[in-house]
Amino acid sequence: MPGQYQYSVDQLDRLIPAIKKSGILAVLLFGQTESKNADGSSATDPNAAVIQAIKVLKKALPDLMIMTDVCLCSYTDHGHCGPLFNGQVDNDATLKVIRKMALQHAKAGADFVAPSGMMDGMVGAIREALDQADFSQTGILSYSVKYASSFYGPFREAADSTPQQGDRKSYQMNPANALEALREADLDVAEGADMLMVKPGMPYLDIISKLRAQFDLPILAYQVSGEYSMIKAAGEKGWINEKSVILESLLGFKRAGATAIITYFALDVANWL
Ligand SMILES: [Zn+2]
Repeated sequence: MPGQYQYSVDQLDRLIPAIKKSGILAVLLFGQTESKNADGSSATDPNAAVIQAIKVLKKALPDLMIMTDVCLCSYTDHGHCGPLFNGQVDNDATLKVIRKMALQHAKAGADFVAPSGMMDGMVGAIREALDQADFSQTGILSYSVKYASSFYGPFREAADSTPQQGDRKSYQMNPANALEALREADLDVAEGADMLMVKPGMPYLDIISKLRAQFDLPILAYQVSGEYSMIKAAGEKGWINEKSVILESLLGFKRAGATAIITYFALDVANWL
């Protein structure tokens, strides 16, 4: 993706001044590893790159809100969001690993953990693990509504997390379904979610509005890699005015009712506003 990079921990020094200058209030970190296996067990390594990154950022920017992605797809060699059983993701085995992973992130200083695997019971399992370890202050941003979308392509390539076989349709939602979104969000709120997320963004503005109307929690919109890449590509070709399209796309999220927006354009936009 043009202008987007994976950073090693020592390269964060280049990013920290830019974050500070932009006035961005929060970041969402995605970990990467070279030691992938069938269970994704390196996700719970206390020295994982993302753990080190949380510590470095917290030290340099104490007021920055740090959220971390909690999922195993960057840590499994098959690219699915959890260990497999008979070719399907084993929901309960996955919960065991992500509980540990979330706790490691909280211990390192994450303010919010963001489970993104859409496993049944994931919010409740993480809430319980955090509370038992005295991390009741650490919040949960749930990817409550994550559609099985074709807009994720560029991220999966960048994060090297494309499933080697099959797809994620058994645990992500059908794009044709709106009612299921409300049910999923209801369950997450009951399990203790502090904020809800809708992903992808632009094709699902109606879902953001519906959640906004129904829940008294922050609703986050996630403008995903495919949305970013399409705007960048058309901008590079001179087919659109890139800057105004970016601003209009974000305005749409706010109009739909999003409290906050997760976007690859964050640094640019924060400097423009
Ligand atoms: Zn995943």
